[in-house]
Amino acid sequence: MIGYLFNIVRSKPLSVAYPAIAPLLQRGSRGTPVLNPERCDANGACETACPVSAIRVERTPGAAATWQIDYGQCIFCGVCIIACPEGAIIASGAFELAARKRQAVVPRKTLEAADVRG
Ligand code: SF4
Repeated sequence: MIGYLFNIVRSKPLSVAYPAIAPLLQRGSRGTPVLNPERCDANGACETACPVSAIRVERTPGAAATWQIDYGQCIFCGVCIIACPEGAIIASGAFELAARKRQAVVPRKTLEAADVRG
């Protein structure tokens, strides 16, 4: 018993003083998926593949398409990254999503390329 208590006292803490010290993330941590709008052709494969419907691709006739992700719903599974045939979505590694307003975690990208117009 004394040895057990002694080991607890001698052991290093398992947590860090976050946010002053950045946590050491597991290798392979994905973080938030982000879109490169220059590669996106608005085919909607990510929207279809997302298991929680966190992505919305809108194609309006005569207007630029838009791509929107809701980080409040996203579970960071990475399926959209795999599903995109254009490789337009990458894992950013970002994980700090605290925000005061909901809109801050629902970024929308306008896809300006001519081939993604509705
Ligand atoms: S990482 Fe998963 S949950 Fe998040 S948007 Fe992509 S497919 Fe949806």
